[in-house]
Amino acid sequence: MSTYYYSHPDCLDHVTPYGHPEQVARLKAIATALSDASFESLIRCEAPLADEDDLLLCHPQSYIDRITGAVPLSGSVPLDADTHMSPGSLKAALRAVGGTIAAVDSVVDGSAANAFVGCRPPGHHAEAETPMGFCLFGNVAIAAKHAVQRRGLSRVAVVDFDVHHGNGTQDLLWEEARTLFITSQQMPLWPGTGDPSERGAHDNVINIPLAPGTGGVEMRRAYEGRVFPALEEFRPELILVSAGFDAHRDDPLASLNWETEDFAWLTRRLCDIAADCCDGRVVSTLEGGYDLTALGQSVAAHVKVLMERGG
Ligand SMILES: [Zn+2]
Repeated sequence: MSTYYYSHPDCLDHVTPYGHPEQVARLKAIATALSDASFESLIRCEAPLADEDDLLLCHPQSYIDRITGAVPLSGSVPLDADTHMSPGSLKAALRAVGGTIAAVDSVVDGSAANAFVGCRPPGHHAEAETPMGFCLFGNVAIAAKHAVQRRGLSRVAVVDFDVHHGNGTQDLLWEEARTLFITSQQMPLWPGTGDPSERGAHDNVINIPLAPGTGGVEMRRAYEGRVFPALEEFRPELILVSAGFDAHRDDPLASLNWETEDFAWLTRRLCDIAADCCDGRVVSTLEGGYDLTALGQSVAAHVKVLMERGG
């Protein structure tokens, strides 16, 4: 058993306007960090393209047609103030969805112990009919629905530690009783949702707001107090992780103060619970993280733990 790493060169062809934080260089920083000799045993896989049936797990046909039809021939088109498409964006987005689904399959089938998906654009802000916050399709929510609807799992947890609220994942999984979505986020911060009163149609959403300035000690207390007990009670058959690294103290888009080691700690604890509940099945997928140095180091720390636990 081993750790699989899904990515694809097409994800470098999603080109955002100059100065945009969600930039091609993010994936290059990750590739550089994971090129170290200590990652030699990481199994590198090409993220396949998702097809329309995959997208339909979470998005209506009219939305898929709208995004498909928005691809420009050159340059870049804005879908909103933050979210843009270039000629390569659709293919990149389909790799991000397809890679996350393939990672779920490899872990559910038992060929991989766990997996990390290093694709972009990210997905946790995309709602059923609204692209938002650099995201086009709900990568992790689609993978969660794939796991329950097509692979027959009864309990799938999604843990989102990105600094921003995973409003899209919350929207897409709101009615899905077989999933538990747990998300921590800085509040107040864009997009403004994520109050603890938002609990899902089946009490299947848990929102954990963190005050600006929250560091590793308080984060660990919040996760030990709320996240891990809820996960242990739910006893997931698979844990999906929306891995955003923008809670790092060096990140330019937010003001939490987590250190690289905090991401390693969090990964270790999630792997502990997965080992106890579901043979260690963890699929983690990249969301945010905009300081290139912090991103590379944090992803490396995260993947290193997955590899240690994946054997
Ligand atoms: Zn974020």
